[in-house]
Amino acid sequence: MAARLLRGCLRLRPGGWALRPLPARCSHSGGEERLETPSAKKLTDIGIRRIFSSEHDIFRESVRKFFQEEVIPHHAEWEKAGEVSRELWEKAGKQGLLGVNVAERHGGVGGDVYAAAVVWEEQAYSNCTGPGFSLHSNIVMPYIANYGSEEQIKHFIPQMTAGRCIGAIAMTEPGAGSDLQGVRTNARKDGSDWILNGSKVFITNGWLSDVVIVVAVTDREARSPAHGISLFLVENGMKGFIKGRKLHKMGLKAQDTAELFFEDVRLPASALLGEENKGFYYLMRELPQERLLIADLGISASEFMFEETRTYVKQRKAFGKTVAHLQQLFVPQYQEGLFLGVVSQGKCTDWKPIEVTDLQTVQHKLAELKTHICVTRAFVDSCLQLHEAGRLDSATASMAKYWTSELQNSVAYDCVQLHGGWGYMWEFPIAKAYVDARVQPIYGGTNEIMKELIAREIVSDK
Ligand SMILES: Cc1cc2nc3c(=O)[nH]c(=O)nc-3n(C[C@H](O)[C@H](O)[C@H](O)COP(=O)(O)OP(=O)(O)OC[C@H]3O[C@@H](n4cnc5c(N)ncnc54)[C@H](O)[C@@H]3O)c2cc1C
Repeated sequence: MAARLLRGCLRLRPGGWALRPLPARCSHSGGEERLETPSAKKLTDIGIRRIFSSEHDIFRESVRKFFQEEVIPHHAEWEKAGEVSRELWEKAGKQGLLGVNVAERHGGVGGDVYAAAVVWEEQAYSNCTGPGFSLHSNIVMPYIANYGSEEQIKHFIPQMTAGRCIGAIAMTEPGAGSDLQGVRTNARKDGSDWILNGSKVFITNGWLSDVVIVVAVTDREARSPAHGISLFLVENGMKGFIKGRKLHKMGLKAQDTAELFFEDVRLPASALLGEENKGFYYLMRELPQERLLIADLGISASEFMFEETRTYVKQRKAFGKTVAHLQQLFVPQYQEGLFLGVVSQGKCTDWKPIEVTDLQTVQHKLAELKTHICVTRAFVDSCLQLHEAGRLDSATASMAKYWTSELQNSVAYDCVQLHGGWGYMWEFPIAKAYVDARVQPIYGGTNEIMKELIAREIVSDK
């Protein structure tokens, strides 16, 4: 049945299967009853949340299957290699998982924001951070689709949708991250060409990239640095474009984060993306989608960690009970310390010494986690709705990114704790989720910068 529905949702396009454009309006307009996350059996269930429709559910089933079959079994090997395979990118392209919400007329799949969210949420649920699909599809491709010339769109977007051309964006430099106006990479005119010099660091998909959007200074005399920045499309193989080492990271081990160097790279005029000196303006326009993406990744990872931990504590035995059911009947104080009465079928069957810190029950911790996650999920879903309607502003996206990435880290901390020593072992998914969470408050603009943006809006007189 699902397979038949799925076939109905897919159609053949040159180079593979892709989604038929998904409806802009979804289930809530059709009056369909859908559970919200707090009432669902599992936070990661398919068929929940009013922002989605049954077509999204069918798509989600196929995306989940893709991550289960094509990504999870290979991820440990890719963690060792520090990169995923190119073959995976092409498989994702064939399956219609790249460029999901890039317009069909540009060569994208033509789905809505919710369909794009299905892909990045399912990746978070798979706990596999290696494939840089979301950066490619939801950060890099929109710049080309929104500001590129017809020629650039035709040249790059269909290839990127097919997974044959991998995209990256290079803003950060060894000496300039939060302060983008401090970039030193520069491009000077030589006839109609540009000569690009400089270096970038921490570039996601940098090692595998076929095309990189490079942020460079093009007018040092501009009235402010922001008015003298442009974007360039730099292609792999161009003379003077050198990929440095893949960086050795605390987490995101299968993701190819790299250094990039530009030594007198000669770029044709057609490599300029959008208008000269408008780069900063484009960056400001696109950053809300990047922040929303990070926020939704963060809450989805939290949902994954919660379910992983729920499963663990329900089977883990301690004091003769599963950890999830540890409760104290009463705790008498003996001279040598506190003792826990272990209860079975309403009777106290044993006494075990416990620490004072054990007194907060595991069940209460689970209740706190679920509440925090569900409240945050409601906010992120409302941001997704605002974004689909073209109304997500920078401050709101910043709130979502800041709040969610902080929550993700506190959920990760608590879930490792609930796993005990096993939570510290790499073979346990929660250990990987813990280290992968740490970068979320850092990239896409640090959370300190998010607070600056939120505060600026609060005190603004406009
Ligand atoms: C795994 C990973 C992937 C990344 N991927 C990419 C990518 O694909 N492309 C790309 O261009 N970049 C990428 N980055 C870079 C990332 O966006 C930057 O690291 C981030 O913006 C912070 O910049 P920075 O590292 O230079 O820190 P800095 O700017 O040096 O900040 C250091 C500290 O000072 C604080 N700080 C700085 N300015 C202020 C201020 N005004 N007010 C208050 N506090 C402040 C910061 O919050 C931070 O705590 C990636 C980074 C990582 C770790």
